[in-house]
Amino acid sequence: MSIVETEIKKFENGNCAENKVFYQAMEEVIRSIAPLFESDDRYKRYAVLERLVVPDRIFKFKVTWMDDEQNIQVNTGYRVQFNNALGPYKGGLRFHPSVNEGILKFLGFEQILKNALTGLPIGGAKGGSDFNPKGKSDFEIMKFCSAFMTELHKYIGPRIDIPAGDIGVGAREIGYLFGEYKKITSTYEGVLTGKPFMFGGSLMRPEATGYGTVYFTETMLEMEGKESLEGKICTVSGAGNVALHTIEKLQHLGAIPVTCTDSKGTIYDPRGVDLDLLKELKLEKRVSLEEYINSHQEATYIPVSEYPEGAHAVWSIECYAAFPCATQNELTEIDAQSLIANGCISVSEGANMPSTPEAIDIFLNNKICFAPAKAANAGGVAVSEFEMAQNAAMSHWTFEEVDERLKTTMQQICKRVALTAKDYGVEGNYVDGANIAGFKRVADAMIAEGI
Ligand code: NDP
Repeated sequence: MSIVETEIKKFENGNCAENKVFYQAMEEVIRSIAPLFESDDRYKRYAVLERLVVPDRIFKFKVTWMDDEQNIQVNTGYRVQFNNALGPYKGGLRFHPSVNEGILKFLGFEQILKNALTGLPIGGAKGGSDFNPKGKSDFEIMKFCSAFMTELHKYIGPRIDIPAGDIGVGAREIGYLFGEYKKITSTYEGVLTGKPFMFGGSLMRPEATGYGTVYFTETMLEMEGKESLEGKICTVSGAGNVALHTIEKLQHLGAIPVTCTDSKGTIYDPRGVDLDLLKELKLEKRVSLEEYINSHQEATYIPVSEYPEGAHAVWSIECYAAFPCATQNELTEIDAQSLIANGCISVSEGANMPSTPEAIDIFLNNKICFAPAKAANAGGVAVSEFEMAQNAAMSHWTFEEVDERLKTTMQQICKRVALTAKDYGVEGNYVDGANIAGFKRVADAMIAEGI
């Protein structure tokens, strides 16, 4: 049995429900890096894999806060500091009822390799809470963020661990978290990224992940000899930060994004999504997507209850390129088959691990241009690192400067991934290319730093 098979067996034996997504992410990486292990025995001798798949430490803490009715609420908070071989721990905070240690380990593990792929000096981490921000008042969000930071501040710092946003954590939450950190520590430092511009945030951070995903896709299509996105129908899932800015950049490039989704349903607007309306519904009013059709009767709303079994309505719509930008495992085997049957030639993951392993196999076997999350959505963390650089230098870069650097970074990641795949005999396979390139950078640093 090869080292890789042994590792997979080992992890499969220890599998449990909460860790399912973590094993899913780990198994994909272990399979991808087989050629690297075969070409260089240092990785085995230094037990890099065994060391990489175990987080450096996990903090789990109680968060107690009071809601608007004066009821005391208790949630669980986490910070998973996974690996800091390349730089301080860096990764987002997720506030969602589904958050548990397994989900954060999956996200933290992916984050290590994603951050490595950017070529920037940042390690990998992730954190969050099972707190549900939906339906909470602004004051309740503020009180929860303050309570969360009361504990989190002990473990973070601008040279130790720099959290950012993720699902349920945007500029508003980062602002409250930053305010509390400042108060507790009496410091004013770049301990969080994704801050509002008025107190140290980088221009373009909100746009970065979505724009970056589209820049990556443009480069990939060009490298693979495919037609550009201009004039093409695209499908996008999600209606949050990543989805909104993916839609925006697609529109800038003359593509026609026709869908968006939230946890309750899908909007299909064949004339192209009305982005201003979408922003109003999701960023200002924070309401369900169903309200979209009140302004656009020609659009269709498909509630989750009407999705075909094991599938999602958004992926049954004809498109040239698809952009899953909502959450993990939202694109199944059945969805992958529908996309291909409907002429889709490119799938780019804006969300983290949105495609199931079976869906990915279908894309790769059918020679679909498939951009995996850890490469395609690395624009967010890249601009977070730009924010750290600006904070350290007490300077501000212009929107154009950040955009240009983001574009260059995404083009470089895409080329690095494609070249690595070629070097290791899996040309055109961006999944293996990303895993090998990311793993190699971290592993080489771990070996150089000793045990
Ligand atoms: P947001 O909270 O802004 O938006 C998330 C969107 O996904 C919402 O529309 C939400 O619907 C929907 N969604 C969440 N959970 C589910 C679910 N279980 N089923 C269906 N829909 C769901 O998050 P982001 O846009 O920031 O993040 C989206 C994805 O991108 C995540 O996978 C995240 O990890 C990843 N990512 C984000 C980065 C960033 O910079 N923000 C960076 C890199 C990756 P509803 O409105 O109903 O809640």
